[in-house]
Amino acid sequence: MILSAKEPMEKIKNSIKEKLNHMDKKPSLGIILIGNNPASLAYVKGKKKDCQECNISCEVFHFEESITETEIIEQIQSMSDFTGIFVQLPLPKHLNKERIIQAIPPEKDVDCFTLENLGKLFVGKASLFPCTPYGILKLLKYYNIDISGKHCVVIGRSDIVGKPLSLMLTQNNATVTLCHSKTKNLREHTQKADIIICAVGSPKFLTVDMVSENAIVIDVGINRDENGKICGDADFESLKGKCAAITPVPGGIGLMTRTALLENMLKTIQ
Ligand code: NAD
Repeated sequence: MILSAKEPMEKIKNSIKEKLNHMDKKPSLGIILIGNNPASLAYVKGKKKDCQECNISCEVFHFEESITETEIIEQIQSMSDFTGIFVQLPLPKHLNKERIIQAIPPEKDVDCFTLENLGKLFVGKASLFPCTPYGILKLLKYYNIDISGKHCVVIGRSDIVGKPLSLMLTQNNATVTLCHSKTKNLREHTQKADIIICAVGSPKFLTVDMVSENAIVIDVGINRDENGKICGDADFESLKGKCAAITPVPGGIGLMTRTALLENMLKTIQ
């Protein structure tokens, strides 16, 4: 089974739009974009389009790469009218990501990157969630994949995907194994998994010999293959004939991450 995100994304967007129709207060997103990294420009364009489709106002503040940290922090401080603030990463090397992110008021931090929001996530008191893990849980829910008591193997321990995802899966009663670049015998872990979530950033990293026939594969990776085409971390063509279900790339977790940002935007006014 192919776990496409197109239908859940459409349904969730329609439901957000519908909810907003009945609310007096409206969410508004302010995006800070620095420089002209093509991937960042494309991501911001996608986020703006998603917001427009849901009747969420969205303004992009686009700066030259030469902008200083103080100027960005002043920009963030001047954005009190926005209910959500998002700084598009990665930032140019001369800027300190931590200090910039911490300048975002936690209640407007729709990426859930501030230490306060991460702390709330840790103790199960979060209201805004990291977008990619949140999108993954939404997709599993949409396809009625129960994670309670399941053995989930997460590959990759980044602050934006692997670490928060392991926490959120645990909070939803999964048994989690978090694997990373120093994990020994990775295949022994993945072969025993009910659900494998791969966030490594390497094409065809997850191969058919690593998964069981009952496994569900969630592919977070966004890479380019040898022909320059977008692909995930999983060897999709061979895996789709073996495992129970798999997410496509594109059309999978990337779309759910965008959807999760919209969900977080709705929460900024609730
Ligand atoms: P990252 O790039 O910061 O780190 C990669 C992780 O992979 C590390 O934690 C490392 O320990 C692990 N790793 C590397 N080699 C390994 C190996 N041989 N065995 C096991 N683990 C290994 O991680 P990231 O920022 O989470 O990004 C991972 C991928 O997910 C990238 O392709 C990125 O583009 C993609 N991504 C996609 C979305 C989305 O919306 N779909 C969101 C975020 C990231």
